[in-house]
Order: sequence, then C-alpha cells, then structure tokens
Amino acid sequence: MSITSTIRHWFTEAPHFDGTIVETERIGSRIQKVTIALHESISTPFPIGCYVQTMTWGCVPRAYSVATANTQSFTLLVSFSGGGAGARFFRDAVVGAGVTCYGPFDDFPYRYGTGRSKVFFATSTGVAPFRRMIDEAIKEGVDSFLFLGSPKESDVAFKGELEELSKQHPSFTFVPTLSAGEPSWSGARGYVTDHIIKNPDLMRKSDIYICGIPPMTMGVLTTLGEIGMPEKQIFVQKFG
Ligand SMILES: Cc1cc2nc3c(=O)[nH]c(=O)nc-3n(C[C@H](O)[C@H](O)[C@H](O)COP(=O)(O)OP(=O)(O)OC[C@H]3O[C@@H](n4cnc5c(N)ncnc54)[C@H](O)[C@@H]3O)c2cc1C
Repeated sequence: MSITSTIRHWFTEAPHFDGTIVETERIGSRIQKVTIALHESISTPFPIGCYVQTMTWGCVPRAYSVATANTQSFTLLVSFSGGGAGARFFRDAVVGAGVTCYGPFDDFPYRYGTGRSKVFFATSTGVAPFRRMIDEAIKEGVDSFLFLGSPKESDVAFKGELEELSKQHPSFTFVPTLSAGEPSWSGARGYVTDHIIKNPDLMRKSDIYICGIPPMTMGVLTTLGEIGMPEKQIFVQKFG
C-alpha cells in the first residue's frame, strides 16, 4: 500500500468526497480564497460553522473552516503567512486541481434562540465560520458584532460584502481592526481584545464566538475572564 493510500485509509471512518478547485483568489498578502466544487450536488449545504479536512498534496491532512457553501460548492479561506504544507498547497493550487476532503465536521454550530446578541471575534481567516453565522443572526433578528483583526485593510476577507451587510442591516456592526493600518485608515486600530475592555457590558449580555490561531483565542479568553464573562456564553474554534 502506498503512503498516500495508507494515510487516506486512516481517515476512512469519516465520510469523504472529492472536489475540484473552481476559483482561487488572493486576498491581501496572506489569504487565499478557494472555492471547491463538489462532484455530486447535495440536498443541503454543509452546516454553518463546520470544517473539512483537506488532503493537501494528496496525503497531508489540513483542517479548514467552511466560509460559504451551497449545494454544489463551498469556499475556504486559507492563510499562507506561515508557509507550511497546507498553506503552500492552496496558495499554489490552480483551477481544475482535485482535492479529497473528509467531513464536514460540525463542532462549532451557531446557537439559535438564546435571546442574546452575538459577538464574533476573529483574526485573518478566522472570519470564515462567521460569514454565514452573521446571516443567521440577521435572520434571527438578534444584534451581532464582528471584531475582525487584520494587519492591513487589504488583508480583510469579505470586506466589501460585510460593509454592505452592515449598511443594509443596522442590527449587524462590522468593526475591522487593523494592527498595521495605513495612515489613511480611519477605522479601529490595535487588537480585537481592545474592544472587550471598551465594551464589557455588551460582552456580558452576549454569546461570544471566537475563531482563529491559538494566541488570539487565548488573548480574547483571558481578557473576557478579566471582565467576569460567564463561561457558558463562550464558544471557541481554535485553528491549532
Ligand atoms: C478545526 C480547524 C479549522 C481550521 N480552519 C482554518 C481556516 O479556515 N483557515 C486557515 O488558514 N487555517 C485553518 N486551520 C489551521 C490549518 O488547519 C493549519 O493548521 C494551518 O493552516 C497551518 O498549516 P500549514 O500546513 O500551512 O502549516 P504546517 O505545515 O502545519 O506548519 C505550521 C507552522 O510551522 C511552520 N513550519 C512548518 N514546517 C517547518 C519547518 N520545517 N521549519 C520551521 N517551521 C516550520 C510553518 O511556517 C507554519 O507556520 C484550522 C485548524 C483547525 C483545527
């Protein structure tokens, strides 16, 4: 048995499927937005907040959250700032390339009917699962807030459509927060954790969702602890 098929065999307990990259787009200096078409359409799109394990290079598994999905395809945001195996695969993959995926794995769902506002914290590609959760909050009629950290304005994924959503739906507030914004940037600067200190009452009366790399999730969790945030209202998807 080849190494590729051996590694694939380890995953055979999970449902898997083959897809083809149909669109790939660079966002800023560190994100590749990749759309993968399913070979067979499905009756309902992948669950909100789920992730898939992609077999990069045919045999190197890497997990990516599903950002948008319909019955024929789904879109991932892949950070390639670290330059690891998964990052390089998706950074360089061309339209037409095949990808085997395992999943979807649904362990970061949107919580309906809690009656509380939703506050989403992310950096960079951590915004992926929140793209569809924001739509759900709008549909549910609860207030929602996205605090999204990025180095520069050009690194903010879904920037145009999130700005448009916040204009059309006053219940949704979008706060891109830049750590290295250009002098012309007039929005928030600094780190997403700054918003916790500035808005402790909003945090305590909301459901908090956090998604991204471990240092960011730990920073947000620590600061939430400092303001006495109830743990049962915190939901985390750690990228590692
Ligand atoms: C549930 C879940 C969902 C996720 N969703 C996303 C998502 O939506 N988007 C996303 O971008 N990521 C996501 N991740 C993280 C993703 O799965 C990868 O872990 C991440 O992209 C890094 O993988 P990589 O192959 O690029 O780097 P790896 O190869 O795993 O390397 C990790 C780091 O080590 C460094 N490194 C690797 N090899 C060497 C070496 N020989 N010498 C020195 N340094 C080295 C790399 O620079 C890199 O920064 C998710 C993770 C989980 C668990």
